[in-house]
Amino acid sequence: MSDSTIFDRIINKEIPADILYEDDKALAFKDINPQAPVHFLVIPKQRIVTANDINEDNAELVGHLYVIAAKLAKQLGFDQDGYRAVMNCNPDGGQTVYHIHLHVLAGKAMGWPPYQDKLKV
Ligand code: 5GP
Repeated sequence: MSDSTIFDRIINKEIPADILYEDDKALAFKDINPQAPVHFLVIPKQRIVTANDINEDNAELVGHLYVIAAKLAKQLGFDQDGYRAVMNCNPDGGQTVYHIHLHVLAGKAMGWPPYQDKLKV
């Protein structure tokens, strides 16, 4: 497992990103490959590798990501229409960047369920 990801380079401003929000603990920026009319990511500056690594010690930081998502939803005006906030975990969850991030998707009604093939279980 690499000790950094592309998100560290975004946090350190080594590569550009369309940043929507930043504070000392977290960053929100538009996804480079949007899957909805609105699609941004909210990430902690401190790397947490996957959702499996969320615990009592970092729970406040993870909760902060949801606070930022809710604030941006109001600010960008899609809070009432609604949105999806999701964190993919490991291969079956569709995770490709191993630094946790909350996907916030909005601007159209989301489909459910997220898979179309037969149940694995
Ligand atoms: P995952 O597949 O891990 O849940 O989500 C990773 C997300 O990061 C993807 O939606 C992908 O488009 C986005 N992403 C990957 N590299 C970059 C990048 O360099 N800049 C931005 N803005 N988004 C990225």
